[in-house]
Amino acid sequence: MSRPRFNRILLKLSGEVLMGPEGLSIDPAVTSRVAGEIAAAREAGHEVCVVVGGGNIFRGLAAAAKGFERATADYMGMLATVMNALAVQNALEQIGVDTRVQSAIPMASVCEPFIRRRAERHLEKGRVVIFAAGVGSPYFTTDSGAALRAAEMKCDALLKGTSVDGVYDADPKKVPTAKRYETVSYGRVLSDNLKVMDASAVALCRDNDIPIVVFNIREQGNLARILVGEGTATIVTN
Ligand code: UDP
Repeated sequence: MSRPRFNRILLKLSGEVLMGPEGLSIDPAVTSRVAGEIAAAREAGHEVCVVVGGGNIFRGLAAAAKGFERATADYMGMLATVMNALAVQNALEQIGVDTRVQSAIPMASVCEPFIRRRAERHLEKGRVVIFAAGVGSPYFTTDSGAALRAAEMKCDALLKGTSVDGVYDADPKKVPTAKRYETVSYGRVLSDNLKVMDASAVALCRDNDIPIVVFNIREQGNLARILVGEGTATIVTN
């Protein structure tokens, strides 16, 4: 099936895609490989926004279950996303890709604050813009941050890079007969509680007509393949 061409994309990376086989939260070799994927998309002429999660370092909900106050834990989680954003920026700059980090929580000596118009200028100049700290408020996730930024930056698609190659009707690790969707509607994702992104993120994409492309970022060269309509993925759309 042919897929539409997306010019401006938002790539959502879960924190765990930066982890390596030795269990390092941020593995430099793995981060470099992910940066290579982003660089290839940039070289192919796409305008690239990135949102990174923080789950490889800290998750608010999990910490709250162990006794942390939820809002404080969530702020810690948001700080974790800034660390990941700096790691991805560092890896991109090492291969010559101009990159800016913008955080939803202003921290002037570390990175820029999120300013939509400034982010727009960066993209026009060919820079990759990494959005950190999610939406900047507790009780949200970086999936919601990704959907929000994709809408604000008028991205043509939200690409969700995970460690599976799409959306299945059951957990493929547990159910051998599980089937992968080629396309699936936002409504089906929400009603069947399919594991794509959290419900508020999916609803925001639906309301703003932003397709969600779920693909495996761990496979070398996969982002570039997906962007030319090849490779295995699931598109969530209307
Ligand atoms: N977080 C938050 N508000 C946001 C984005 C993130 O409070 O807008 C916190 C939340 O605690 C979350 C953590 O940051 O668990 C890390 O983000 P997330 O779990 O989305 O990362 P991922 O699963 O994508 O690695």
